[in-house]
Amino acid sequence: MSLKKLSIVPLEIIDERIIHQLILKLEEIFKITADQISWDAISKHEKSDFKSRLKYRSTELVNYFSQNIPEEINGILFITISDLYSPVFARYYGEAQLNGNVGIISTFYLNENLSEESQDSVIFLSRLKKEAVHEVGHLLGLTHCMDSNCVMNLSGKPSDIDIKSSSLCKKCSEVLRNTTATV
Ligand SMILES: [Zn+2]
Ligand SMILES: [Zn+2]
Repeated sequence: MSLKKLSIVPLEIIDERIIHQLILKLEEIFKITADQISWDAISKHEKSDFKSRLKYRSTELVNYFSQNIPEEINGILFITISDLYSPVFARYYGEAQLNGNVGIISTFYLNENLSEESQDSVIFLSRLKKEAVHEVGHLLGLTHCMDSNCVMNLSGKPSDIDIKSSSLCKKCSEVLRNTTATV
């Protein structure tokens, strides 16, 4: 699967400036183009069809849209402020298909131990960008990386996200270059 254009679909009202920052980051890291589209542009379903007890059933949502992605859309990254539910994971920040075209990220835990102060909102945005890059990395075929500084490193607590960088290590960049070169 070669992802050239990614459409970000907010599941609630999310600050335009935040979405814009994500778009810039994803374009910079992956050399793709990204834009923002609405839920209504991709589905006739109600968003609540994919929700149980305030959480999005992320695996189901990702699987559904990967099979029902509109022809004109190349890839989707959902973003939600709600928590995610999966039968496999307990607490997580996002999910994406490996080598796929649909992923989701949640801000639900990313505010943990942060206040409303401006320095903290910088940390929040930084965490969110890293999680977006991480999930899109999966869409482009990257698996988890052992390098603790690499964005593809698996983060446990939200504070673990702060330790890693927002970019790919040399090895992951290499993998990405090789995959994109062959497709
Ligand atoms: Zn991951
Ligand atoms: Zn890496």
